[in-house]
Amino acid sequence: MKGRTINNEAELLQVMDEILNHVWEVKCNRGWTHRTSVAELGYSFVWSGKKKSFGSCNYGRKLIKMSRPIVELNYGNKDHIWWTVIHELSHAIAHWVYGAKACNHGKYWKSINIQMGDDGERCYADDVVRVKGKYTLSCPRNCGAKDSQLMRMSRGREYSCGTCSVKETGRREWNPNFKMVITQNY
Ligand SMILES: [Zn+2]
Ligand SMILES: [Zn+2]
Repeated sequence: MKGRTINNEAELLQVMDEILNHVWEVKCNRGWTHRTSVAELGYSFVWSGKKKSFGSCNYGRKLIKMSRPIVELNYGNKDHIWWTVIHELSHAIAHWVYGAKACNHGKYWKSINIQMGDDGERCYADDVVRVKGKYTLSCPRNCGAKDSQLMRMSRGREYSCGTCSVKETGRREWNPNFKMVITQNY
């Protein structure tokens, strides 16, 4: 299947319906052909309010979850939503074909994901618009260390830049000179 741009919620719901009912034909590592749709496996689509993960696949409850906040930021943004849906559906198919060993993004998932037209990569494209966290921490020396990198040192609820501390003292330790600046984003 080719990727498609999704521009609004109505389009997403339509695509979702189409793609959940699409019959996939994939081969496992023994060369056997497996044919099914994700709807046939019992999965349905639900929104999540998650701000960090674009989509997820819950095998136990048979749910394909998409983050409403991230989806809304990416309407019309190339075919990112489409490929995220395919990514999650490929988890469902891989789990059906291989069972628990197809968890995560190993070779079993990868092979199925590629057969479903995706690239077998686990990460989202760099230009997917993400939801900003409520707070951003940044280094006062603008060294580029981000709060998402594990470079901060904590003392209670205050953080200082671990990268700059290493540069100056050779040790990764709390240093009030490099106290991270907190910005509230919303
Ligand atoms: Zn995944
Ligand atoms: Zn720094």
